[in-house]
Amino acid sequence: MTPASTTPASTPLAAQGGLPRPDIGFTPEPTLVHDRVIEWFEASARPLPWRDPDCTPWGVMVSEIMLQQTPVVRVLPRWELWMQRWPRPADLAQAPTAEVLTAWGRLGYPRRALRLQAAAQAMVEHHDGQVPSTAAELRALPGVGEYTAAAVACFAFFQPEVVVDTNIRRVHARAFTGDALPGKTYTSAQRRLAHELMPSTEIDDGAAACAWNASAMELGALICTARSPQCQICPVADLCAWRAAGSPPPTEEQQTRGQAWAGTDRQVRGAIMAVLRTGETVGRWELLEGLPLPEASAEQRSRCLDSLLRDGLAAEHGGQVSLPGSQGSATPKPGRPATGGPATEETAAGETAAE
Ligand code: SF4
Repeated sequence: MTPASTTPASTPLAAQGGLPRPDIGFTPEPTLVHDRVIEWFEASARPLPWRDPDCTPWGVMVSEIMLQQTPVVRVLPRWELWMQRWPRPADLAQAPTAEVLTAWGRLGYPRRALRLQAAAQAMVEHHDGQVPSTAAELRALPGVGEYTAAAVACFAFFQPEVVVDTNIRRVHARAFTGDALPGKTYTSAQRRLAHELMPSTEIDDGAAACAWNASAMELGALICTARSPQCQICPVADLCAWRAAGSPPPTEEQQTRGQAWAGTDRQVRGAIMAVLRTGETVGRWELLEGLPLPEASAEQRSRCLDSLLRDGLAAEHGGQVSLPGSQGSATPKPGRPATGGPATEETAAGETAAE
C-alpha cells in the first residue's frame, strides 16, 4: 500500500518552522520519505505474529507491553506462549499472580506483567472484556502510558495516532533534522516535528499515517540503528538530512550512556526473581545467602528483596518467601544449591529503552 497523499507535508517543513537545522541547507520532502519508507516496509518488514491481520487487539497490546524494554527475539517465544495460555483479557484477568510472573520469565522488568494483568482486569470491569479502541480509553487503563495507548490504537485499530518510540525519534532526528541521535529526552520540538511529519488523516482514513508509524519504527529497528546505520541500503539515503550534513558525530548531549548491569540492584532483583520463579517457597536467609552474586552485599540483597515485596512481585509470610499466591513448597531445603538460573533477569531489557 502506498499512500496517495501525505499532506500536511505538502507544505515544506522548513516553511512551517518544523526543521530546526536550516543550516544544513537541505529540506527533505516528507511525502517522498513517506512513500519510500512505506514501500520499503511492505517489501522488507519482519513477519511478526502481532502484525498478522488475524492478530487480535489483545495480541497487539501484549506485544507492545513486552517490547517496551525487551528485544523482539526474546519477546517472540514468550508472546506465543502467553497468547496460547491467555488468549483474551478475561483469561489473564483471573490468572494467579504467581503464574503470571512465572510466564513472564526472563523478559525483564516484571512489573510490566502485573500492570498488564491489572489492565486486563480493568478491561473486564469496564470494557466487557475487550481492548478499548481509542487512545484516550487505553490511556485510562492502569499501567498504560502515552506511547502504548497510541501504538495499540494505531496498530490494532488503525487510529491515526502519533506513535513515537526511540526508533522513530532516531529516524526523525537523522532524516529530517540532520542530527546523529535524538538525545535522551523527548523534547517539545521533537513532539511538534513528529506531529508535523504525520501523513494526512483525511484522505485515506488514516491508513497512511498508521503505515508511516509502523514503517519508520521498522526502519529505525533494522536500518537506521543507533550504532551502525546502514545508509548504503537505506531507501531514503539520498533524502536524508544527516547524510546531507556530512554525517556529523553525535554531540555530548545527544549521546546516551548504556545502562550498567553488573552489580546493580536490577541484577540482584533479577537473581531473586529467578529463584522464586522455580515455584519454591524459600526461607529469607537461605534465599539471600544463596544468590550467585558474590559481589552483592547482605545489605544490597536484603534491600532488593524488600523492594520486590513492596512492588508486589514477591510475598513473605513467617520468614518464608515465594511468588505472590504461589502454591510452592513451604519447606525450605537446607543446603539448596545457589543456582536459581543465570542472574540475567533484566540484562537484555537494560540494553534497550529505559524503563
Ligand atoms: S540514510 Fe542513514 S542516517 Fe539517514 S535515515 Fe537512512 S539509515 Fe538513517
